[in-house]
Amino acid sequence: MVIVMAKNAPSEAVERVLSEITALGFTPHISEGESRTLIGAIGPAPTEELREQLSALANVDTVVRITKPYKLASREFRHDDTFVMIGDVRTGNGRFVVAAGPCGVESREQLEGAAAIAKRHGATLLRGGAYKPRTSPYAFQGLQEEGLRLLEETRAATGLPIITEVTAPELVEQVAASADMLQIGARNTQNFALLAEVGKAGKPVLFKRGMSTSITEFLQAAEYILSQGNPNVVLCERGIRTFETATRFTLDISAVPVLKELSHLPVWVDPSHAAGRRSLVSSLALASAAAGADGLIIEVHAKPEEAKSDAAQQLNDAEFGQLMTSLKAVVAALGKQL
Ligand code: PEP
Ligand code: MN
Repeated sequence: MVIVMAKNAPSEAVERVLSEITALGFTPHISEGESRTLIGAIGPAPTEELREQLSALANVDTVVRITKPYKLASREFRHDDTFVMIGDVRTGNGRFVVAAGPCGVESREQLEGAAAIAKRHGATLLRGGAYKPRTSPYAFQGLQEEGLRLLEETRAATGLPIITEVTAPELVEQVAASADMLQIGARNTQNFALLAEVGKAGKPVLFKRGMSTSITEFLQAAEYILSQGNPNVVLCERGIRTFETATRFTLDISAVPVLKELSHLPVWVDPSHAAGRRSLVSSLALASAAAGADGLIIEVHAKPEEAKSDAAQQLNDAEFGQLMTSLKAVVAALGKQL
């Protein structure tokens, strides 16, 4: 359940509620809004009597029972859209952002080239994998620690905050020391030990939907991060597996409005991995923006044909430039800022 405190309730009233619910066996989670505090109480379904008892406490406005299997991620918990800060870049709540960069960090020259493309056309975040979770153990696994150093250097040179993937719980500390945002990839959506670890890392999380994860399962998985006390989660649709083979994955555009309806968290889309080839990326990106996404991640490379991973889907300078021009028009039509 969620206990909604009255506007500007004094801290003693909040403390009183916290001690009551803790004594009753609930785990409290505090969310500070602009003018009011919300207290999530995770535990057994509350009885009507218990809700009345809590409603009667000083400065409690309402007590809402959350019916969904996820709590902190739900709109019932927080009515207003959340925004998340990635370094000094804000996403969510009317602010549209684009993160661009190569699939994997391959060399200084390659990363600098991709970062220049990203920056030139108005992306405000640089994304690139240092640790790559590859389907085949024989494929390029990423430059790992060296990749993190190159990302740090490129951030220093360009000012773009960096997003990079973390693939194992034991790597979280190391990756979090370099990254402005930690990415959890589709192959790790339900790696609960990893999710709990990133929940404690103190960095925002770009959380991708697994290729066969339902929306409910996805939001329940997000709850593993949120319930560790990390509220800065961005949900990312990246395509799901269906019977269709004409695309690498089927981009679930419906996931955007569905997630926005069910959750207050920002929703991004990764059209590159869904499409699997560059000719489709722009259409899917524009559709995602039109469907209400708060941001996109787009794979770019100065020479896509030479990329060590995902070569077929990375956009070159000119292609990314064209996409950003069209995207600006779509985003402006929606009354959002890019
Ligand atoms: C990636 O972002 O490069 C990636 C591997 O994506 P996903 O986890 O969505 O497959
Ligand atoms: Mn990739």
